[in-house]
Amino acid sequence: AAEKAPATASGGTRRVLLFPLPFQGHLNPMLQLADVLHARGLRVTVFHAAFNAPDPACRPAGYRFVPVGAGVPTADLVPTGSNADFAGALLRINERLQTPFQNSLREVLEDEEGVPACLVLDSNLRGMQVVADRLGVPTLVLRTGGAACLVAYMAFPALCDKGLLPPQDHSHLNMALDDLPPLQLQDMVFSTTTPHETMTTCLERIVESAKCSSGVILNTFNDLEDVELQKIVDGVCVPVYAIGPLYKISSGAQSSLLSPDQTCLDWLDKQEAQSVLFVSFGSLASMDQEELVETAWGLANSHMPFLWVIRPDAVHGSGKVGLPDGFEEETQGRGMVVSWAPQQDVLGHQAVGGFWTHNGWNSTLESICEGVPMICRPHFADQLINARYVEEVWKVGFELVGKLERGNIERGIRKLLREEEGGEMRRRANDLKDKAIHCIKKGGSSQTMVDLLVNCIMSLPS
Ligand code: UDP
Repeated sequence: AAEKAPATASGGTRRVLLFPLPFQGHLNPMLQLADVLHARGLRVTVFHAAFNAPDPACRPAGYRFVPVGAGVPTADLVPTGSNADFAGALLRINERLQTPFQNSLREVLEDEEGVPACLVLDSNLRGMQVVADRLGVPTLVLRTGGAACLVAYMAFPALCDKGLLPPQDHSHLNMALDDLPPLQLQDMVFSTTTPHETMTTCLERIVESAKCSSGVILNTFNDLEDVELQKIVDGVCVPVYAIGPLYKISSGAQSSLLSPDQTCLDWLDKQEAQSVLFVSFGSLASMDQEELVETAWGLANSHMPFLWVIRPDAVHGSGKVGLPDGFEEETQGRGMVVSWAPQQDVLGHQAVGGFWTHNGWNSTLESICEGVPMICRPHFADQLINARYVEEVWKVGFELVGKLERGNIERGIRKLLREEEGGEMRRRANDLKDKAIHCIKKGGSSQTMVDLLVNCIMSLPS
């Protein structure tokens, strides 16, 4: 329930501006944060790119949505392919949206009653932070990744100075990084297509956005990443608010760009408890046709029930998704394929026993908070770090390494769903789920941080 609206000195409620990055894994937590702040009585204005725009109809009345950069070319702004150049796309987004944002922000400042308390930016939007600084609007940044990821990004320049990055000798890729346990050098190779200079600039700007803000908000919780959060506190020198899991403290309103197929929940109702493998690789990662075929036969040969999300753009190269002949007949009754799932409900369903994931941060966090162990298959960016933590720190899953091949997949699925090792991972995941629930209760660390964050926003000069 909404708490009593905090009043400003002038007696009205304060407005907060937000600007998410236009990708599913970034829109979700930013809009969840908007909901949390709205429930605390703040008024909300959401700036958003004209592409991948959120649907205002999914939010409560009273939100204002301001599109930025209509007409800007977008073809090279969305990273695609198995090893996408996400860093290049981020730099282009900043460059192309900066002037349109300056115009939009000016208009909003002129139109809206009262000075906004602040702008909450995705930490990938350093270019917009420069604009806000210029127009005198204080900023907070939202990191939609885990704390370990920001720690790794902060450590990136030192590894470059030491000559370790970019890696010269591929035999050293599994070298342990002593200052960043349990990470290995290969976990810091975030893309093999992005030029090193582009990656360096991109990560530098992310860290800069945190240091130049009035506070950093993270979608994680203290019991999960206390050591990493402390490193951030020490490194950024501004207040740090770990308020996750955001999806558990927000209203639950939708922010999917694709429409989720709800019928899979009815199908799950008919399956045995903890028997189903949920397979989903987020909103951007893709595979080639051969990997799709191996995945299909790995699932079929495991003889376990599965729910598999294959997005319309899930297969790169051919552009067309072709499940192998005989697959549907072979898996009839125990397999379901959808193009987009209500993922949080699926992971929270008692029939789901495991999650084969690409380890985007939202997926990783959702799996942990629903007590579901994972098979990890990271593709790029922070997914490599998240998978390493899942396997070695939280011990709630394991990585499927090497070439995607049906025999390995089948063995991995059976290990997760059938063997004792998988059962132990499930027990540890359930322990973390309990900790997450505790953090978001009254007096828990995340709830306390939300209080501090709202106080901070209310006390910014008006
Ligand atoms: N998601 C969903 N349905 C799907 C697949 C994904 O609702 O079928 C959601 C998922 O719950 C998560 C987000 O999309 O909140 C994906 O974010 P993540 O950080 O895991 O990966 P990304 O898409 O950024 O690679």
